[in-house]
Amino acid sequence: MASPGAHDVTRKPYTGSCHCGFIKYVLHVTLPADPNVSGADLDPAMFSKIYRCNCTTCHKMGYMHCRPVSMTDDFRLLSPLIDKHGNAEGLGVYQCGGMYASWYFCQRCGCRAFTITKPEGGQIVKVNMGELMEQGSKGELKEAWKASDSVKYLSVNAVTIDAGQGDGLREWTERKWVYYLERFKTTGHNISWDRPFEAGMY
Ligand SMILES: [Zn+2]
Repeated sequence: MASPGAHDVTRKPYTGSCHCGFIKYVLHVTLPADPNVSGADLDPAMFSKIYRCNCTTCHKMGYMHCRPVSMTDDFRLLSPLIDKHGNAEGLGVYQCGGMYASWYFCQRCGCRAFTITKPEGGQIVKVNMGELMEQGSKGELKEAWKASDSVKYLSVNAVTIDAGQGDGLREWTERKWVYYLERFKTTGHNISWDRPFEAGMY
């Protein structure tokens, strides 16, 4: 039984990038405030959805989903700046199946960093890096892409979150804040907080 206050969450900015550094972003991740509370005990709408999916696309990419609570507020793409059609020079897009999802990757180093489903709409906004990283108002001003309200699905590949920012994938997995999604044999969305379904990986 979760204790009072166990549903409190913390929201924290993490920088992320592809291996060569061409793709750069800041992702706000919302997690349980209490490290002893498993994700299974919380309302999943309250914190970022971090999961491994066993569908062939996610599995073969080694993709680890981290889907922000707010697609418009929690993800700022600093490089490259993608246009209204969802394209940018040097940014590869892979589409498969129903072609509804754009899996973005760096054409130089090959890392897949994020995924957006159609329609990709977004806009370029000015960001103060100090405020974005919650380190005060005296930050460098940069341009960034943010998703518009029309975007219905945005997932960041959590393995591209930069190391050395405190809690990370190891702690999140050990605290059971990462779940496993069944999409290999069924078309439903069965989830497990304990172990992957057939063909999935931890
Ligand atoms: Zn790269």
